[in-house]
Amino acid sequence: QSRTDCYYFFTDIDMFYSVQVDQFLQQFMVSDQAVMDLSLRFRREMDKGLCRDTNPTAAVKMLPTFVRSTPDGTEQGEFLSLDLGGSNFRVLLVRVKADGEQKVEMENKIYAIPEHIMRGCGSGLFDHVVDCLANFMEMKGIKNKKLPLGFTFSFPCLQTQLDESVLLSWTKGFKLSGVEGKDVVSLLRAAIKKRGDFDIDVVAVVNDTVGTMMTCGYEDQYCEIGLIVGTGTNACYMEQMRNLDLLDGDEGRMCVNTEWGAFGDDGALEDIRTNIDQEIDSGSLNPGKQLFEKMVSGMYQGELVRLILVKMARQRQLFQGRTTPELLTTGHFSTSYIFTIDSDKEAESLASAEKVLRGLGLEPSLEDCICTRRVCQIVSTRAARLCAATLVAILRQIRDNKAAEKLRTTIGVDGSVYKNHPEFSRRLNKLVRRLVPDCDVRFLQSQDGSGKGAAMVTAVAHRLAAQQRE
Ligand code: BGC
Ligand code: MG
Repeated sequence: QSRTDCYYFFTDIDMFYSVQVDQFLQQFMVSDQAVMDLSLRFRREMDKGLCRDTNPTAAVKMLPTFVRSTPDGTEQGEFLSLDLGGSNFRVLLVRVKADGEQKVEMENKIYAIPEHIMRGCGSGLFDHVVDCLANFMEMKGIKNKKLPLGFTFSFPCLQTQLDESVLLSWTKGFKLSGVEGKDVVSLLRAAIKKRGDFDIDVVAVVNDTVGTMMTCGYEDQYCEIGLIVGTGTNACYMEQMRNLDLLDGDEGRMCVNTEWGAFGDDGALEDIRTNIDQEIDSGSLNPGKQLFEKMVSGMYQGELVRLILVKMARQRQLFQGRTTPELLTTGHFSTSYIFTIDSDKEAESLASAEKVLRGLGLEPSLEDCICTRRVCQIVSTRAARLCAATLVAILRQIRDNKAAEKLRTTIGVDGSVYKNHPEFSRRLNKLVRRLVPDCDVRFLQSQDGSGKGAAMVTAVAHRLAAQQRE
């Protein structure tokens, strides 16, 4: 294996098969064949999660959300929502107007969640959330109103109704004691009561994927999938009740939160996981869990790149075999660096690589910069291709459900990787379209989808309740 192997350079990484590549990086490449194979595997995992008998042992949980319809545009009212579990915690005030033209107005504020709260005890988190909510309501002069609230809580939860949701396990950077196994709505209501200076009607808890689907569904009637590629990754879609074995009733549809981040937690991805993936997992807050997420989402991509660079330096394939304390420190290669380095504008990309590497105390040669760019491309291309595999499985499921020859559908998308990486969305969209040529797929990027969506779910619940009263 010669040192020059990694100097090959090309703009469209999808063309890698024509290029001689470094053996070490080869293991991070997923061929079209492998993507197809993974997609079939994931489809079986979905079945396993949907089936009552196999669900208890399924890695992919396919959780019912109790959201039965997307917005029809007649919703209206004033709603609060909380958005917890993405890269920011925010409180939102959403006004939905149904007069003629559909209109959603939104005001929101981002609040920090200090590190000690993220790793502390659950009551500390809920007290903090409620303090921020109170601050927001004071600021908006609405503290005396009892508004309906939707809670976007972006973690795997077992829901038994729209406003009851038991946390199965923390993911991403959250690890708090005393919340797993508990209903987060009760915890929120208890914290509001304890504070005692305002009241709120907690109507719905939703996952961020569901919020995103609902927000995009307000704009586009065809939207029936919600996708997040951000700090974490996950997707939801509208499933036929008859396939939802876990619930009674065969009529209509319900949104299912796949929790695809856990794909592989039962060993199903061992053939494509590398030593570096194992290293990421063992150093994480939740070893053995969310193995697919750890290969795909923004929380881990930078760290994957860093570990690859370290390994290549140790094999004297980079930096003349040198490493620095900065390069050797966990978390020091931020995923946002990938966004600037993995761009198809060659000169800018190499300049960013140089700047980042210098920032890590290295003195990179041009070859080092080219190779670093390539590592970034490979890590995030793999993420896009894995994501395409699981998304294609969902598209096929929906197409088969409808027995449609040609499916026309919209995917609502949110998340920092999808939005801020200059190539990710193009790679994902292109591969999905190539793998399901018989589907007419639109990717619709949502604006503040996850938080706004909780308000939309709340608004739909209100509309349905009003209809029932009539
Ligand atoms: C969580 C999901 C969430 C996703 C995106 C994952 O870690 O388990 O519930 O939808 O992150 O935020
Ligand atoms: Mg059923």
